[in-house]
Amino acid sequence: MTDLTDADIDADADRVSAAPDRTSAQPLAGRRALVTGGASGIGAAVVRALAARGAHVVVADIDTAGATALAEEVGGSIWIVNLMDTAALTDAALASALAGVDILVNNAGIQRINPIQDFKPADFHNILTLMLEAPFLLIRAVLPQMYAANFGRIINVSSVHGIRASPYKSAYVAAKHGLEGLSKVTALEGGAHGVTSNCVAPGYVRTPLVEKQITDQALVHGIPASEVLSTIMLTESAIKRLVEPAEVGSLVAWLASDDAAMVTGASYTMDGGWSAR
Ligand code: NAD
Repeated sequence: MTDLTDADIDADADRVSAAPDRTSAQPLAGRRALVTGGASGIGAAVVRALAARGAHVVVADIDTAGATALAEEVGGSIWIVNLMDTAALTDAALASALAGVDILVNNAGIQRINPIQDFKPADFHNILTLMLEAPFLLIRAVLPQMYAANFGRIINVSSVHGIRASPYKSAYVAAKHGLEGLSKVTALEGGAHGVTSNCVAPGYVRTPLVEKQITDQALVHGIPASEVLSTIMLTESAIKRLVEPAEVGSLVAWLASDDAAMVTGASYTMDGGWSAR
């Protein structure tokens, strides 16, 4: 730890006021981003939002075809990886995948719905690995280069279930609560090095993951799938519709921008008011 002086604080203010033009249509020009789970759903929308604002984006996903097609669409590149296989996430593999990355979006995730007594321990372990340990390993690997550049943006795709629990989602809720905590610790450690870390916490977003959840919820609650949105998922929302993936993409792109330089350690819900109740 070093002692902070007023001169250091002035120098930091000068650095910020010399930041790129905030009115630019390409506020992320020159940035390199990596989005895990970037081939589908929210991740794909984040990839498109970052690329549209000028960033080069690495689509990191287990889905080769989806990642390749999206990378071609946005002029980005790919990292084909199984983020549940942490043995493959060696220092060398991470260093190669993350080279030059100054915006890291931890987004890959899956969902399993089951009461705790029926929840398979292997499923619990795999969800925690993909959605908490892998983000930790990527953050751990990318921070040194962000510190060296005195710039970095870590954006973790959490969920309203990182803030409030729901029954039958033990692993998911545990992983997202953990991710919220990890994100805050990253913010506290990174603040002196130009690195911000934040969560976005969406409610139900129109993606393949939610379409599967609607079917699973119907089974576990014994109701028709056509009634799941109105009787379970959206009952507590102020705005009665699903979030669109592009809406989450815009929020992530803003958090990645220079406009959000003073936003860190935060978690932004985007849930139509669900968590306000
Ligand atoms: P999705 O199923 O559409 O996309 C998930 C992506 O992750 C896919 O491209 C998939 O191939 C990839 N992936 C899955 N396992 C992987 C692995 N082992 N290694 C690498 N990639 C893997 O899901 P989504 O709805 O877009 O969800 C994305 C994130 O948003 C998740 O973390 C999820 O928890 C979170 N989230 C989703 C919602 C929602 O309503 N859809 C709400 C809140 C939070």
